[in-house]
This record gives sequence, C-alpha cells and structure tokens, in this order.
Amino acid sequence: IPLPRPTALSRPHWDGCREGTLRVQRCRDCQTLVFIPQPCCGNCLSERLEWVDSSGRGTIYSYTTVYRPQQPVFETPYTVVIVELEEGWHMLSNLLGVAPDDVRIGAEVEVDFHAMSDEITLPYFKLRSAS
Ligand code: ZN
Repeated sequence: IPLPRPTALSRPHWDGCREGTLRVQRCRDCQTLVFIPQPCCGNCLSERLEWVDSSGRGTIYSYTTVYRPQQPVFETPYTVVIVELEEGWHMLSNLLGVAPDDVRIGAEVEVDFHAMSDEITLPYFKLRSAS
C-alpha cells in the first residue's frame, strides 16, 4: 500500500511509531492536544508545541467499513475508525482483527504498530485485551 512520507513537521510522530510509542503534539500555552501534526495550536494559535507520549489506549468514537477501495491495492473490507484516545484527542486509523458486523462505538481499543518499511511503522488499532 502507499506509505506516508514524513515531513519535518510529522517526523516525530513517525519516529515514535517506529519506536513503539504513539506521540501527539501538546500546546505549551493552553495544553490542547493537537493531531494531525500542525505548526501551531488550533485553539490559541501558539507555536509553542511539544511532542508528548500517548497511552495508545482509547475507545471507538466512530467508524465505517470500506467495501470499495479507493485504489485496488487496498484489500477490502476494512474498517476505518476514529479513536478517542484516553487523553481526549482523536485519531483516524484502521481497526484490525474485527469483522465489520462486530465493530461497536465505544469499544475499547489500543494501538497496534505494524512495521511497513525501515522508516514507516503504521499505528493501527485492535480491540483491547482484557486486563
Ligand atoms: Zn494552545
């Protein structure tokens, strides 16, 4: 599949994925969590953003299942999810290991890193194992 190309702005996120840590930007002035990577805070326009670690745990906020891929290289069906992370930010990803009919809003999920190349590890999500 086509892989992301890190930019100077997004590289800390991709480096974190490769190292097994989900990272998100946080505004030093108003503490807002910012994702996708931005040059300034969407809440207060401060440029004082720092990278912080997320737990990688969250719940399914919304989802859809794709049956007709945008490009034939994508195997269908697959489920695209918006995950609400524990820290309160949202992230778009894919949910793995769950049949489309079994996906539920509010289900507990955790990040599931998959190395795709030397540079790119994709942060998918899977249902959280009971603990
Ligand atoms: Zn801010």
